[in-house]
Amino acid sequence: MSVSSYQIHGRTAVIAMNNPPVNALGLELRRGILDGVDRANADAAIDAIVLIGTPSAFSGGADIREFNTPKMLAEPNLHTLIGAIERSAKPVIAAISGGCMGGGLELALGCHFRVALADAQIALPEVKLGLLPGGGGTQRLPRAAGVEIALNMIVSGNTVPAQQLAQTQLLRGPSMGRVLTDSLRSPQYVPDALFDEIVAGDLQSGALAFAGKVVAEKRPLKRVRDLPCTHPEAEAYFQFARNTVRGMAGPFPAPLRCIDAVAAAVTSKTFDEGLAVERAGFEHLLATPESRALRHAFFGERACTKIPDVPEDTPLRPIRTAAVIGAGTMGGGIAMNFANAGIPVKVLEAGAEALERGLGVIRRNYENQVKKGKLTAEKLEARMALIQPTLDYAAIKDADIVIEAVFEDMDVKKTVFETLDATMKPGAILATNTSTLDVDRIASFTKRPQDVVGTHFFSPANVMRLLEVVRGAKTAKDVLATVMKLAKTIKKLPVVSGVCDGFIGNRMIGRYSAEALRMLDEGALPQQVDKAIEKWGMAMGPFRMSDLAGNDVSWLIRKRHYAEHPQMPRAVIADRLCEAGRYGQKTSKGWYAYKPGDRSAYPDAEVEKLIVDYRKEAGITPRRIDDAEIVERLIYALVNEGARILEEGIALRASDIDMVYLNGYGFPLHRGGPMLHADMVGLFGVARRMREFAKQPGADAEFWEPAPLLAKLAAEGKTFN
Ligand code: NAD
Repeated sequence: MSVSSYQIHGRTAVIAMNNPPVNALGLELRRGILDGVDRANADAAIDAIVLIGTPSAFSGGADIREFNTPKMLAEPNLHTLIGAIERSAKPVIAAISGGCMGGGLELALGCHFRVALADAQIALPEVKLGLLPGGGGTQRLPRAAGVEIALNMIVSGNTVPAQQLAQTQLLRGPSMGRVLTDSLRSPQYVPDALFDEIVAGDLQSGALAFAGKVVAEKRPLKRVRDLPCTHPEAEAYFQFARNTVRGMAGPFPAPLRCIDAVAAAVTSKTFDEGLAVERAGFEHLLATPESRALRHAFFGERACTKIPDVPEDTPLRPIRTAAVIGAGTMGGGIAMNFANAGIPVKVLEAGAEALERGLGVIRRNYENQVKKGKLTAEKLEARMALIQPTLDYAAIKDADIVIEAVFEDMDVKKTVFETLDATMKPGAILATNTSTLDVDRIASFTKRPQDVVGTHFFSPANVMRLLEVVRGAKTAKDVLATVMKLAKTIKKLPVVSGVCDGFIGNRMIGRYSAEALRMLDEGALPQQVDKAIEKWGMAMGPFRMSDLAGNDVSWLIRKRHYAEHPQMPRAVIADRLCEAGRYGQKTSKGWYAYKPGDRSAYPDAEVEKLIVDYRKEAGITPRRIDDAEIVERLIYALVNEGARILEEGIALRASDIDMVYLNGYGFPLHRGGPMLHADMVGLFGVARRMREFAKQPGADAEFWEPAPLLAKLAAEGKTFN
């Protein structure tokens, strides 16, 4: 089927875009529109042209799959198309419904008139991909909607309903823009050219009627490029905008470049001069690592829901009701996810007291949201009503899915899964939230291992977006597909992981933490390591993170590993810290000291002494480790384990690993995740640094042996992604 059509209604040609799902302006569609415009202009029986999309989208903009490919520039490119429409001798009317975003809005701005449904969604969201609108949007939108409104939209990337933009005079800008709009409002400037009419009822009929009026009244063609672009206090306004945005943009260069481009719309002598500033800004941003990272995250999120051997049309098991076993830290948060999505959920505990405590925590969580104005009191009650406590397995037997979140102990899990096997209805999905235990063993406690899957939530489970979906050896495809879909329903980002100790995220973080500890042995202090990596962009350094999660948690795991592998080297400093009862925030001391009612971490002389004493005992002469080395060692420890995880097929693709780190571990978005970061540094250089680390005194040479996949890609000059 063609992605566009051409139809004649009386003396008006209608070019309809039909390139699902969002009418992305790929090469074929651009050709179709241009052909339609040419055909209408050549036909003496046509007086006007209507360009229309589908109810859900006029156009979502450029086809970003064409980014960095020859197709993007292939003619007619977006500029050529917009120019041709603007120069059309016959009036072109954009009829806008649904999403009208990015290149889609730029296309509409190239038309002579625009009519829209009130609820059409208007945006130039390029900044969210680290770019600026590169199809003339920074030059035409300020002319059509006014400088301030345009700047707010372009810098924030936020979506505004057409109705609101039709009353531009009264408009309050979206979040970031509000500050700008309020302080330097210019009441004398009343832009009116963005929408000529808001259509009620059928869009195409409205657009055809409007076209009839334009022709009958012989209205002059309104070319946005010819409109004036002024601001009464331009210099002060842009200065103010730059100051405000600089602070909000963090490491991202795009928002300031957006301001430069909009400013050029005001200061340039000609339209084309402004367009050249826009073009230069776009090309600059396209090549920045920050934009590459944002686009990687955008595509990575879409990619991670696809599982190669599970067809997209796999029939799903209906999930209408759920149950959670265990109302502790995780169980409570997981239950909230279901209630928030309107799915009734039963929470089962071992005892009445734990149950009451668990439900109390849930209620207090919701109450805090009410206090912050994020939830109404009625919604709180509605959600609590969806969460039913029980002590009896018979009460949950009909649930479509049950998620176990009891103590991390194989014997406890065994009892629970045997009971679930005996009580749950056939076809119920039996999920475990275990962080470290073998999901295949857990499945083996049942006679229906095909129904067992891991759903590894992150703490706090009602907040964190990441969900590792652990695929057991026998997990059925429809169980996997159902859980992936359910994740979306409860607003999580699901990433599939194979079964291994720690799955993707924690297995890698184990290496990172081990390297952090080794640096203490060698000469660093916890605060130095944390500061270096936090400055680089991680939300929290390894020691602050460990204090938050509880140092005893990793201690327990270490003790298990020591028992299994007696030859294994000990993490003496970390073990001694726990032996001293310094479990972290929960005991008011860990790697740092904490004060009541204060979450700040204070360096503690007692910890320093513990570290220094150990070095003396072990005969280690401490050396200064600089911040750059700290960062490289921590991040490359992640990368090397990531490469192994990829090679073993635990992760399906490198971008899945990056999505885990961006959404579950506070990895800085502008760096795109550990694997993309390594790609951007260059794998050859990464592998070389690892070999250098291997030779340093005190290093674990085996640890730094580049994983075979990494070594291979580095040698071939290739990348993970
Ligand atoms: P928790 O100790 O806070 O809660 C466990 C709850 O399970 C307790 O309320 C306990 O009363 C209940 N329970 C114990 N045995 C039971 C049984 N036989 N039947 C019913 N209820 C029982 O622990 P948590 O931190 O919520 O961890 C739960 C699971 O989630 C563990 O497998 C853990 O590894 C995993 N996990 C924890 C985190 C985290 O950050 N805490 C993150 C991801 C996964």
